[in-house]
Amino acid sequence: QMADALLSTQALEAYYGDFQALFGISIDVFPGEVIAIIGANGAGKTTLMRSITGLIRNQPDMVLWNGEAIGSRRADQVAAAGIAMVPEGRQLFQSLSVEENLIIGGQMGRKGPWSLEKVFELFPILKERRNVPSTALSGGQQQMVAIGRALMSNPQILLFDEISLGLAPIIIKSIYEALPNIIGEGMSAIIVEQDIAKALSVSSRVYCLQEGRISLEGRPETLNRDDISAAYFGV
Ligand code: ATP
Repeated sequence: QMADALLSTQALEAYYGDFQALFGISIDVFPGEVIAIIGANGAGKTTLMRSITGLIRNQPDMVLWNGEAIGSRRADQVAAAGIAMVPEGRQLFQSLSVEENLIIGGQMGRKGPWSLEKVFELFPILKERRNVPSTALSGGQQQMVAIGRALMSNPQILLFDEISLGLAPIIIKSIYEALPNIIGEGMSAIIVEQDIAKALSVSSRVYCLQEGRISLEGRPETLNRDDISAAYFGV
């Protein structure tokens, strides 16, 4: 890659008390690039996302955004910088409606093309259900709100944590089909996935984590199945 990385981590470590969850994780995301982070349960994928968004601050100087350390910024500063996360388990504001959840996303972050109307165009069902409390939505609809809320902050990079978790296959399919429209116009993304095939289908590079270490990285077309299985399952 010729361009400078938009986001990178440099030999990043992370800890929960005495337990070390990440060991020397170095990743790069270049402008406009979609990368995938794959790995089994407990491999450290969520910990890596939390380190990037400043929720875990063991080594804040090892997370670089346009070459500057960002790992110790507050959530609103991270959003203002142009980083948005679609968290595992959605984490919507339960007492608020669909529309209110989306509006809160728009109050963080930056100016840009995304608006309520544009999110409703992407996910028409959310327009129909705009006044419904988020707790009354199906899992797939909640995931749509979480994605819409992140987009409303007009991010430069979108972090999807376990995008498919707990969703029906048909919903997962429709969310993946919407991805090109979600990520368009030069936006970068990190897709965290346990579903290897899905991850490979949308990313230009993939990193596999195993027990807190990068066990494999490369372009999907250069990786073979056996190497991926070994890196993923450790067999
Ligand atoms: P999952 O698919 O289950 O979310 P993951 O790849 O995202 O897995 P992490 O959630 O990052 O993995 O967990 C990495 C390691 O850190 C695991 O061994 C996990 O048990 C441990 N861990 C995660 N959160 C905590 C916590 N709050 N306290 C202690 N250990 C934790």
